[in-house]
Order: sequence, then structure tokens, then C-alpha cells
Amino acid sequence: MAAKSVYKEPAPIVDRENPLESMMSRFNIAAEILGLDEATYNVLKVADKQVIVNIPVTMDNGTVRVFEGYRVVHNTILGPSKGGIRYDKNVHLDEVKALAAWMTWKCAVVDIPYGGAKGGIICDPTTMSVGELERLTRGYTMAMKDVFGPDRDIPAPDMGTGPREMAWLMDEFSKTVGATSPAVVTGKPLVMGGSLGRTEATGRGVMVSALAALKKLGLNPSEVSAAVQGFGNVGSWAAKLLFDKGVKIKAISDVSGAYWNENGIDINEAVAYKNAHNGRLDGFTGAVMMENPEDLLVSNVEVLVPAAVEDVITEHNAGDIKARLIVEGANGPTSASADPIINEKGIMVVPDILANSGGVTVSYFEWVQNRQGFKWSEDMVTERADRIMNDAFEKVYQTSQKYKIPMRIAAYVVSIDKVAQTYKFRGGF
Ligand code: GLU
Repeated sequence: MAAKSVYKEPAPIVDRENPLESMMSRFNIAAEILGLDEATYNVLKVADKQVIVNIPVTMDNGTVRVFEGYRVVHNTILGPSKGGIRYDKNVHLDEVKALAAWMTWKCAVVDIPYGGAKGGIICDPTTMSVGELERLTRGYTMAMKDVFGPDRDIPAPDMGTGPREMAWLMDEFSKTVGATSPAVVTGKPLVMGGSLGRTEATGRGVMVSALAALKKLGLNPSEVSAAVQGFGNVGSWAAKLLFDKGVKIKAISDVSGAYWNENGIDINEAVAYKNAHNGRLDGFTGAVMMENPEDLLVSNVEVLVPAAVEDVITEHNAGDIKARLIVEGANGPTSASADPIINEKGIMVVPDILANSGGVTVSYFEWVQNRQGFKWSEDMVTERADRIMNDAFEKVYQTSQKYKIPMRIAAYVVSIDKVAQTYKFRGGF
């Protein structure tokens, strides 16, 4: 590998990008830097398999609604495919394709033996009853019974799903194969084979990679402030764990709006408030509501953690970002068109496929424990996950230094290189 930098800024994309375009434009840059051969490029630029199903569900009022669901398996050269299932009204096949490919790169960057996949169902879980959600989840599992499997494709939670849905999925799959099959899914409740540390794992990885990045920037956690967009599982845990490390969290947000406190928000208080108020921050008094929630992204803080949805940092607001460090808790929060602006400003980015890989890392531990039939202690999970995160961060950082490329492209280079090398050894086409 030549150490010469052939990094080129991605060409600006005029129309609003979709996540698949954003993913592809970074993939293309990294492929060029690596000198990826054409055959491997052509294999990796498309998904191995895309399954579309229609799931009839009897609603509580007696009518039957049919929901469209997807499972995209991007690649399995490194092992069975792994990735969450998203329940959201904006789920789109292109989005699921991008998210599936990101899972391939994510697993490769942390060096765990998985390929990448993602699932999604177009639905609004906030308006559905528990019974409707259960019937939907069981219907989806049945429809995907030939896709899923502990050695084939292993789902997990994502936006709109959690341990409850994973329990239904495990139960339904177990019934179809006639044997209890805990390793078919991760993110399960603790009592039925979930792993200690899985709930906070993604947020913890965000914290660990943020601290590693601050160290490189010569900044002390107790002297910096942060803004965290999103207060779901990833955002709230990232905020809490950064807060515990002494970072002053000046802004947090959720669907109800953004909240600012110049003196820092007590995140324990915010989490307690959220838990007592249906999972939402509406009416939280430990901070003032920002007039425009989008201003959180351009607020006066050193560290910005987008931990909500895709494409929130774009060419339109990137120029106004004040943070010196962006740590991407969400998948794809930055559009490719924002990359050149962010790079020009010298902002360090810990990209999604690295920053939020703590979740899938502990999912891997859960799967290993299920197969071992042996439960690890929380300390064992945390210590091993932190080590993996720190090693991956260092590898990506060294790659970015070696090729003089941004951390995001370096993360793709590390991942694609691992996948491409495996193709060379395994062959097959
Ligand atoms: N949905 C999470 C992600 O995007 C977790 C995936 C998993 O644990 O398999 O990384």
C-alpha cells in the first residue's frame, strides 16, 4: 500500500442526498485510495440479497392492515450478517440498503466476524398498540424465517425497536425451528439471554471514542462542553456517560425540541425526567427550550454528538458548526455534501461506522455467550468492548495519518481493506 494521499473531496451533489448516495460516495473515495480491484468493487457496491415482504396484521379494531417490510443483506464474506431492525414511518429501501452496507463496514472496522444487514418495516410504532406490534413482529419473523438464523443473519434492535421486539422475534423463530434459539437475535431482555452492558453499549462506545479523540486533540474532558442531538437509547447513554466523565453537556434534544443550559445540564436529572414522562423530554425544567431545535447542531460547544437520524448535518449548516469534534452516534447523520466543508474547517469527525460500533460489538458478545451457554460479568463485557473500541479508533487514526485523509474515509479504508483481503483468500468469483 502506498502512503501517498490520493484523497479527493467528493463532488458536491446538488439534489438532497439519500443515505445510499452518501454511503456510496465515501465508499468510492476509499476504494480509489485502496486501489480496489474492479471485481471486488462491483461485488461490494451492491447488496447480496434484498427481501421485501408484505405482512398482514389484524389491528385492534378488527381491520387487517398490510405492512411492507425489508431485510437487506449487504455482505457475508466475513461471517453471518448482522444488523438491526427499524420500525419507522420513513423507512425506505434505499435507506435500508445504506444501513446494511454500513453494518458491513462497522463490523469490519471493529474486527468482529460478521457481515452486514439491516431490516425495516414501514409503520408508526408510536400509534400502534402492544398487541399490534407483537403481531407485526411475529409476522415479519415468519416471513423472514429463511433469512434469519444464528449462522446466517442475526437481527438486533434499531430505531423503534428494543428488547421487547427481540423477545417476540426469538420466540417466533424458535417455534418455527422447533428449538429455543437465543443466538438468532441480540439485544434480548437479560432474563432470556441478553448480555449485561448491551443496553448502554452504543452510548458507551460513543463516549470511549469521544475521549480517545479528545486526547488526540489535546483536550481534557472536564474542560469541554458538548451538545447531544437525540435522547433515545444512544443519545441518552452517550450524554450520561460523557457527563460522568466531566464533560459539560450544554444541549440535549428529542422529538419534543432542544434544551440548552449554559451551565450544563444534569443528565441524571434529564434521564429520570424522560423515564417518568413516557420517554420524552417535554416540559423538562433543567434547561431552557431552544427556539429552533436545529440550532443545537451549530451551538457553541467543543463536541457535537448527532445521535438521532440521518442527514442532519448538510452542506447548508456544516459551515456554521462551531464544534471541534463531531462524534456520530447515529448512522449517517452527515450527508456526503457536508464532508468537504467539515474537512476544510479542520473539524475532527469520529464517523458513525466507528463511533457507534460499540452496540454491535456487545451484540457480538451476546451471541458468543448464547453459543457458549455461559454468561459473562458486566466488567468482562465492558473491559473487552472498551478495548475493541480503543483499538479500532487507533487503527483508524493511524490510517488517517498515513494517507493524510479524514477519519471518515480512513474508517472505510480499514473496513474495505479487511473485506477485500478476505475475498482474496476465500476467492469464489
Ligand atoms: N442497530 C444497531 C446498529 O446500527 C445495532 C446492530 C446490532 O447490534 O446488530 O449498529
